[in-house]
Amino acid sequence: MKRSLIFIFLLTILLGCARLTEVQKLPVVPFPSNVETTEGSFLLNAQTQIAYHFENKEEGRIANYLGEKLRASTGFPFQFVNIEDTKGNCISFNHIKDEQLGKEGYELTINPNNVMIEANGDAGFFYGVQTLLQILPPEIFSPTKVNGVNWSLPCLHIRDYPKYKWRGMHFDVVRHFFPKEFIKTYLDILAMHKINVFHWHLTDDQGWRIEIKKYPKLTSVGAWRVDREYQDWTHRDPPKPGEKAAYGGYYTQEDIKEIVEYAKERFITIVPEIEMPAHSLAALASYPQFSCTGGPFNVAVGSYWPITNIFCAGNDSTFIFLQNVLDEVIKLFPGRYIHVGGDEANKTEWEKCPKCQARIKSEHLKDEAELQSYFMKRIEKYLISKGKKLIGWDEILEGGLAPEATVMSWRGMNGGIEAARSGHDVVMTPTDYCYFDYYQGDPETEPPAIGGNLPLKKVYSFEPIPEDSLTEEQYKHILGGQANLWTEYVPTPSHAEYMLLPRLAALAEDVWTPSELKNYKSFLFRVNELVKKYETLGWNYCKTNLDD
Ligand SMILES: [Zn+2]
Repeated sequence: MKRSLIFIFLLTILLGCARLTEVQKLPVVPFPSNVETTEGSFLLNAQTQIAYHFENKEEGRIANYLGEKLRASTGFPFQFVNIEDTKGNCISFNHIKDEQLGKEGYELTINPNNVMIEANGDAGFFYGVQTLLQILPPEIFSPTKVNGVNWSLPCLHIRDYPKYKWRGMHFDVVRHFFPKEFIKTYLDILAMHKINVFHWHLTDDQGWRIEIKKYPKLTSVGAWRVDREYQDWTHRDPPKPGEKAAYGGYYTQEDIKEIVEYAKERFITIVPEIEMPAHSLAALASYPQFSCTGGPFNVAVGSYWPITNIFCAGNDSTFIFLQNVLDEVIKLFPGRYIHVGGDEANKTEWEKCPKCQARIKSEHLKDEAELQSYFMKRIEKYLISKGKKLIGWDEILEGGLAPEATVMSWRGMNGGIEAARSGHDVVMTPTDYCYFDYYQGDPETEPPAIGGNLPLKKVYSFEPIPEDSLTEEQYKHILGGQANLWTEYVPTPSHAEYMLLPRLAALAEDVWTPSELKNYKSFLFRVNELVKKYETLGWNYCKTNLDD
């Protein structure tokens, strides 16, 4: 009897401890670095104004963005007013100088009389607005007017800035092609989660998706494959002679400019990926002279393994071709980084190719691994001459890393740790935590996926810097983390949303929120609020992990 009483007593204490505080229930993802709740609430109504310094363009731009969102769902006018002329009942923007907040941080203060967003510049204002919108009822995300909602905000003070500067999400538009309009939706999803890098996987064995004016066959030939959508990805019949290649698509340079601009308005930098030397069959189907054998090749209809047909490293015209391609890519994408892949190159053809072997000799290279290193160093030199930085998958470590290369560590974290120790920048994206093409629940009940198992809770346990692995100086080379969505088994936009959400919410918290504030129970509570917003926005999501 006594023992069971003690047990009940302890259980009560435990349950009490596990109860979430009001702050932990604040429906904001990623959770802010600092939240203090205060008394009272602020109510949006037909008289609420948006105030800013009319001479400040950055404030004005974001004030306008907020105004559009609020007007659509509430139906209130939200007139703009110069900040000197306001007498309360307003949402105001205020430019400040605060070193700790950095480029992306902000302060949000909600009083009974007004709401204030303060930041150093427009990225901070934008994230302050994202937080404000999430604190409002989910209906605020409705594109049309919603009646009968109490548009109330709890009084509080938030001071918030990100843990990492690289908060990335990748998307493969090769294995399946996704239209321009969906890329914009994808960017909207990223922006809501304060993700600031969109890694756009544009070329691979199964398609070339970016218009290059100098090489029109890259899209007239390379963007299309024979349709085998009715067969499983790994068991597809090869194309028959003369069969029409009808599945695919590509983005024109005008499309790309539109998407780059759309991303910029949401403070997202696009990192385009042009794969080399492997994952290049679509390019070689278009221009077989840049392979070792001369082809001919077909754009792969499904799984293609091992990846033997790769760019010839002994042929100077291959490099001229790639430099010309990169010239057009560089003009389209204003960000600093160009991703050049570098992964999964099978060197069988290089071993047999007289030109590649001659290159190994003339450059005094030890083997084909060093030939790949030569390839990457040559491309890096070119990118640097154009003011860009090379980033590649961790295979670029093999045979020697290009001098200024940034490594994207996907085969676990060891490649990233090794690179950081040798003074290179790193983005962590290990398969075990970051591959959103993996199942998120029981394969019996989930839609088909590539394999693996990556439930929400596991994504939430990801830390881009493994404990005790690096010195303080080396830490600084870990730019952040990223998740990847490969699309072999993701044929539609709605399915892409399903694989992305809500796992992106967990990733967002991994790369934004201070580790000591991460709490899975709190996260789960807030994610259940967040999915109501997804629903209002018409975004599909996985419900499998929302109960525990
Ligand atoms: Zn060759």
